[in-house]
Amino acid sequence: MRLLMWLALGVLVIFALRKKAQSAFQPTGRQQQGAAETDTGQADSVNSVTGNAETMVCCERCQLYIPASEAVLRNDKVFCCAAHADQP
Ligand SMILES: [Zn+2]
Repeated sequence: MRLLMWLALGVLVIFALRKKAQSAFQPTGRQQQGAAETDTGQADSVNSVTGNAETMVCCERCQLYIPASEAVLRNDKVFCCAAHADQP
């Protein structure tokens, strides 16, 4: 009976590890769509795992493409940094 308990525990651990590995190596396509709208705190944590799967936006001043989570929004326009956003 004790053997059965350990067996069940082992299966549970394997399932947990497999689930963890799947979420780490499979960047979800659903998050790409809402990346620009979600708060930056969540996007930053996702960014380290998914890398370049994030939505890219273009700077109004220098036309540089940057991840939406790193973009600076000013007057409904997108900029790559605060310096470009503050320039008139
Ligand atoms: Zn710029």
